[in-house]
Amino acid sequence: MKNKLYKGLLIIFAIFVVLLPVTIATADSGWGSSYHSSGGSSHHSSGSSSHHSSSSSHRSSSSSRSSSSSINGGEPLTPLETVIMVIFLLFILFIIVMTFNGIIAAFIAAVRKSNGAIDTHMNIMTQDRVDKIDPSINIENTLKEVFDLFTKVQDAWSEFKYDELRKYLSDELFNNYKMQLETLELEDGKNVMGDYKYISGGIISIDKKKNLEELRVKLHVEMKDYVINTKTNKVTHGEKNGIMDNTYIITLERSLNNEITNCPDCGAKIKNQASQKCEFCDAILVKGASKFVMVKKETIKSGYK
Ligand SMILES: [Zn+2]
Repeated sequence: MKNKLYKGLLIIFAIFVVLLPVTIATADSGWGSSYHSSGGSSHHSSGSSSHHSSSSSHRSSSSSRSSSSSINGGEPLTPLETVIMVIFLLFILFIIVMTFNGIIAAFIAAVRKSNGAIDTHMNIMTQDRVDKIDPSINIENTLKEVFDLFTKVQDAWSEFKYDELRKYLSDELFNNYKMQLETLELEDGKNVMGDYKYISGGIISIDKKKNLEELRVKLHVEMKDYVINTKTNKVTHGEKNGIMDNTYIITLERSLNNEITNCPDCGAKIKNQASQKCEFCDAILVKGASKFVMVKKETIKSGYK
C-alpha cells in the first residue's frame, strides 16, 4: 500500500516537474499581453487562470516535499503513527491529484486551443459552402468588413471611446470591455494600438437561427500593441517598437429581416410587414440585415513577430 503510494507520488511528482515549466511559460505569456486584450477578455482570463494553477502547484510541491522529509525522519513509526501517516499521505495525494487535474485540464485546453488553430485552418469555408447557407455573404467582402470592424473596435478601445464601442459590440462584450477600460483608466494606462495589417482570414461557420445570424471568422493580423502610463509616458506592458502577430476567432452577430418602415421608392409607410410589395407603387421590398456586431473575440495565437 505504502509502496504504491510512493510510486504514485513519484509518478505525479515526475509529471509535475515536466509540467511545471509549461504552466510557468503560459503564465508568462499571459502577462506580456494581458492588456492587448480589448480582445483579451479571453486572453486575460486564460493568462490569470494558468497563473493561478501554477501558484497552486507551487503549494503542492512544497507540501509534498515537507511530507517526504518527515517520512525520512528516521525513527520507527508506531501503528497509530503509521495510520495517521497513511491518511496524511492519502490527503496529500488527493490534493496533488486535484491540483493536477486542474493543471492537466488546463494543459489539454491549451493543446486543444493550438489544435483549434489547425482545425479552423482546415475548416475554412469555401464560397460554395457559404452560398448553401447564406448566398448574400461574399467571403472577400465579409472579411474586409470584419477586419474594418476589428480596427474600429481597437481604435475605440485605445482612445476610450465608449460610444463608438457600443456601436460595434454586443451588450455583453461592451460591458466587459467597459469594465476593463475603466480599470485601465484608473491606473492611468492607455493601450496604444495601430498600424493594423490584415494577414489572412476565413469564415469558419455561419449559423442562422430565426432572425439572427452568427458568423465565426478567423482573423490573422499584425499591429502595434502596448500599454503606456499616461502620466509618465513610460511603456508598462508590451514593446513600443514590437509588432504583435495575433490570430483571433471572432464571433459576430447580426439580425436579419429588419423591418422596413417606409417604401424605398415612394416613401409611403409600410403597414403590413409581411407583404413583399409596396401597396401604393408595387415596389419590391427587400428586408435588410443589420450590420455585424462583435460578440466574442478569442485569441488563439499571440506574440511579437
Ligand atoms: Zn411605394
